[in-house]
Amino acid sequence: MSSKTKRICEKGHSYFKSSDCPTCPICEQERKPESGFLSLLSAPARRALENNGITSLETLSTYSEKELLTFHGLGPSSIPKLKEVLANNGLSFKKH
Ligand SMILES: [Zn+2]
Repeated sequence: MSSKTKRICEKGHSYFKSSDCPTCPICEQERKPESGFLSLLSAPARRALENNGITSLETLSTYSEKELLTFHGLGPSSIPKLKEVLANNGLSFKKH
């Protein structure tokens, strides 16, 4: 008998869990500062980056704009957004 129990995390989110794992799924989702930039993008652009293993700004900064634009799903409109996030974090696209 493993009935799910309702729990409330320290931040007040209520969720159901059957295991003893105390992790709140809502907090889990909110706690992603590194991949937060992905949420700025459209779904196809986000998938394009994820499919290429780009889930952090550090990884993103190892690519040039040109390389990123070769990814299927990532259009030119995504570049300014990415550029801005990189700049806000003291990073930039790879040159050339
Ligand atoms: Zn929570």
